[in-house]
Amino acid sequence: GSRLSVTVIGLGPMGKAIVGAFLDKGYEVTVWNRTLSKADDLMAKGAMKASTVSEAITSNDLIVLSLTDYRAMYAIFEPISEQLTGKVIVNLSSDTPEKVREASEWLAERNAVQLTGGVLASPPGIGNKESVTLYSGPRKTFDDHQNILEVLTSTSYKGEDPGLAMLYYQLQIDVFWTAMLSNLHAVAVARANGITAEQLLAYVSDILSTMPKLLEFYAPRIDAGTHSGDVEKLAMGLASVEHVVQTSNEAGIDASLPAAVLDVFKRGVARGHAGDSFTSLIDMFQKH
Ligand code: NDP
Repeated sequence: GSRLSVTVIGLGPMGKAIVGAFLDKGYEVTVWNRTLSKADDLMAKGAMKASTVSEAITSNDLIVLSLTDYRAMYAIFEPISEQLTGKVIVNLSSDTPEKVREASEWLAERNAVQLTGGVLASPPGIGNKESVTLYSGPRKTFDDHQNILEVLTSTSYKGEDPGLAMLYYQLQIDVFWTAMLSNLHAVAVARANGITAEQLLAYVSDILSTMPKLLEFYAPRIDAGTHSGDVEKLAMGLASVEHVVQTSNEAGIDASLPAAVLDVFKRGVARGHAGDSFTSLIDMFQKH
């Protein structure tokens, strides 16, 4: 037929949103999921359910994967790996850059090409141009499929190294979860003091909004290895984090999260950085 078509494997919340975005744009979408019943509501919206992985793979040359991790890809593909020849696998599952590189080699050995993506959006952000997905892998494969991929989100191509998109993704997620969890901890302390998450919201947003400027200020200093304590000193930071831990304890709230931060500050001071900036703590992350 003349309709654009694609196969999507993996129908968790993300896979379902991906299928929905393709259907909205008039694509013919073949779907498969280990738990096949998850395809039923998508069939009602016009998706075609493949009854086997084989059928899903042979229906299209472009296969989008949205799985928990890369192990799931092997579980699905190993039994039918001789059918992968000529396929373009757009893998939007999260994992480590190393796992992604290994998978690209594994697929190349089976004459398939992998394009990897790190989706920087939650399922409701799929089908929205304001969301971004980072891609890496063969440039030509990316160029050939960019239009289709932009049905899902905007795209940002990072380079040929298949692990690169995932590396950038994981670096962002590193910050994301720690920051999101620190907010949850602050909410727990707030609630112990009779303040709701909604009442705290504006205050947390305020402090987060100061961060881009701070990051801009510190990034060139970190790159240059200058950690001068001209603006703030680690000893001050240590006292400040101690107050956060104590405030948490006074509220009867588990302080293990800020205590982990405190531990890094303490090690920095013990190494003689009391008069340096907190950025000197970058050395504490080196394994010795
Ligand atoms: P889920 O973990 O809910 O869905 C994962 C899918 O993987 C399911 O279809 C599941 O099948 C399948 N799966 C897992 N293990 C296996 C296996 N061994 N064999 C076969 N199939 C398997 O994740 P999401 O849909 O939420 O996310 C998918 C990917 O997108 C993840 O890598 C996630 O990190 C990433 N992502 C998700 C975001 C989100 O907000 N949800 C945001 C950004 C990225 P079954 O139904 O049978 O269990």
